[in-house]
Amino acid sequence: MLDERLPCLSNLSASMAMERSWDIVVLGAGVAGASFASMAAEGGMSVLLVEAKEFPREKVCGGCLNRRAQTFLHERGLLKPLLESGAVSIASLHVQLAKHSSNWSVPSMLSVRRSTLDHLLVSDAIERGACYLSETKGIVEPLEIQELSVQQERSPTHRTVHLQSPSSSSRDTVAVRSRMVVVATGLSRSALPRGEVWPATQMESSRIGVHTLVPSSAMKIEKELETKAKRCEPTLHMLIGTIGYLGVCKTDGDQWDFAAAIDPDQVRRFGSIAACVRSILKENGLTNTAFLEQSSWQSTPYLTRTSDCVAMNGVFLLGDAMGYVEPFTGEGMSWAFAGAASLHQIICKASRSIDHSTAEQAWNRWVTTAHRSRQKSSRWVANQSRDLARARFVLRACDWLPPLKHLLLRKIMT
Ligand SMILES: Cc1cc2nc3c(=O)[nH]c(=O)nc-3n(C[C@H](O)[C@H](O)[C@H](O)COP(=O)(O)OP(=O)(O)OC[C@H]3O[C@@H](n4cnc5c(N)ncnc54)[C@H](O)[C@@H]3O)c2cc1C
Repeated sequence: MLDERLPCLSNLSASMAMERSWDIVVLGAGVAGASFASMAAEGGMSVLLVEAKEFPREKVCGGCLNRRAQTFLHERGLLKPLLESGAVSIASLHVQLAKHSSNWSVPSMLSVRRSTLDHLLVSDAIERGACYLSETKGIVEPLEIQELSVQQERSPTHRTVHLQSPSSSSRDTVAVRSRMVVVATGLSRSALPRGEVWPATQMESSRIGVHTLVPSSAMKIEKELETKAKRCEPTLHMLIGTIGYLGVCKTDGDQWDFAAAIDPDQVRRFGSIAACVRSILKENGLTNTAFLEQSSWQSTPYLTRTSDCVAMNGVFLLGDAMGYVEPFTGEGMSWAFAGAASLHQIICKASRSIDHSTAEQAWNRWVTTAHRSRQKSSRWVANQSRDLARARFVLRACDWLPPLKHLLLRKIMT
């Protein structure tokens, strides 16, 4: 059984990484970066996976894996160890909007802490041959102006990445060379080369994500949630409020996961993240929530962004780094896995060529067609949740018309 409390240690040092040239440097060892690194290393490429934080770490996420994500993990031989590490099987979805309660049986969902899942994925990447550098920030070096003008014709053959460990100053970095760089740094765009234009559009009314874990012994609203959901089997509770929505479910390690998307202005108005979350719970009739003040909350930058270009000059964006929509339907990790598998295929095809522009075009095409079309229903659902009257209407329509409910479930959860 995986011991996710042990740190994932680097298997080389930054100075060792500098001594050779890599096929691929992957920045960010979240679900997208680690799964891509594992596939690329297994395919025989030399892969350096660089992660800014020390693992295991928690991050803002509801931790729910839908069927597509589970199928990916099964095919990679990772579903069994994940189940063995205590991932919780979720049998139903309960949506609460003030007094309206809607219950949905979900086909197959697992709840897992990100510390557990990401640790498993990084260990797998290392086992399959990737080199791993922990607690190191990577930043892609911008191309020189002359190189940028030649880039109209073809992509550069190598890119340089600066690696900065926490103990060194921002000027004290190590430079590594790689044929391609995959930027899988989540919602942060800090690894992108400064001075190169990576156009992105951010939704004006974008929400932020917030998250905490609560030990079962401190969880005070389990019974009330069960009463509202009219079930006591493991359930994902989604609570919709005026300032955002909150997902609550039991997860591994005998913990409860609280993940929400809220309006950032309201954090300033309420004075804290915990107060915002308590207000969503209160709107839904749950008042015994003082325990949330003791929790330490993490937050994200703005959630909704679209990257207009996801590959150029030997740099490929992957996972949330290539754009994200709000997490109401909890599909982000399955998108990240699907993206990692597709990018791996595209890069494998192009790996014999010195010029990467064919792979870049193919990746830009895949993201603007297949990936964005997958996100459509999720975007639609998240938009309905912003207007409480509309959200209530959709919930009622789904309760009255089971085929509509099944269609929505199939689109977003399987
Ligand atoms: C509130 C909320 C709830 C969610 N709930 C769910 C859910 O239930 N189910 C689901 O499937 N999805 C959910 N998601 C979405 C999911 O969390 C993301 O889609 C997923 O984590 C994206 O994975 P990623 O690998 O792209 O990025 P991340 O998982 O964010 O990983 C990025 C990694 O890059 C590292 N990094 C950052 N900068 C650098 C750098 N310069 N150098 C090196 N490393 C760096 C970070 O430390 C991090 O480890 C939720 C999201 C939010 C906000």
